[in-house]
Amino acid sequence: MEIEFNGFPIFSGKFDELMEKLYEKMKQGKKAAVISANPEVLNYAFSKNYKFDDEYIFIPDGIGTCLIVWIIKGKRLKKLAGIDVFYEILRNSNKLNIRLFFLGARDEVIKRAYINAVGKFDAKVVGYNHGYFNDDEEEDIVKRINSLAPDVLFVGLGCPKQEEFIRRNKDKLNVNLIIAVGGSFDVLAERVKRAPRLMISLGLEWLYRVIVEPVRVKRLKKILIFIARSILNL
Ligand code: UDP
Repeated sequence: MEIEFNGFPIFSGKFDELMEKLYEKMKQGKKAAVISANPEVLNYAFSKNYKFDDEYIFIPDGIGTCLIVWIIKGKRLKKLAGIDVFYEILRNSNKLNIRLFFLGARDEVIKRAYINAVGKFDAKVVGYNHGYFNDDEEEDIVKRINSLAPDVLFVGLGCPKQEEFIRRNKDKLNVNLIIAVGGSFDVLAERVKRAPRLMISLGLEWLYRVIVEPVRVKRLKKILIFIARSILNL
């Protein structure tokens, strides 16, 4: 249920199949790191020439990734969003007894995200930490996470900080699932809104985010160049 794209195995199943795979990993006590393979992340990983072991699961989180894979590989992928995985696990954490840890976002945001996770979803969040720490604090954060023994660690530090954090610490973390979630804590904390459903289903979430946060235009430019280069094989 994967399609290989320039050395990246990109998950090509449906959302339910992804969730089944992740819950199965947890049941078996196996590790997995879920990376939202949007064009920005792919571009970054290509530029660094990174190789990934088979604990990584890349999900096509972005209409740009789906477009590249469709044009180059002729395979139509359904967009799978990291934030949907995040909310799905939040909803099920109590019922399935899944312990969660939140890492990322500003201090006041992650506190609010925690309050909402517990208050609105009855989620089993065993700890949280903001995402503005120094390199020399990282080891202690990893130790703290391990001491709280979560099953799932959500990492929302933005690209490329979250991917680098996961690369450096995946093997040190005693956690089944490590999931990169970008700005999802800001959404849970109600600091930012997700795009309207219609825009999401039309594949226009990126447009909504640029309208709401115009500084994203710069990122969009880079992404468009990457998409064009991938398609034209430059
Ligand atoms: N962030 C962080 N530490 C940093 C830089 C960013 O915790 O050093 C957080 C930021 O507060 C936000 C998230 O990372 O919550 C990045 O959100 P963004 O919307 O850029 O991510 P995307 O969803 O686009 O991947």
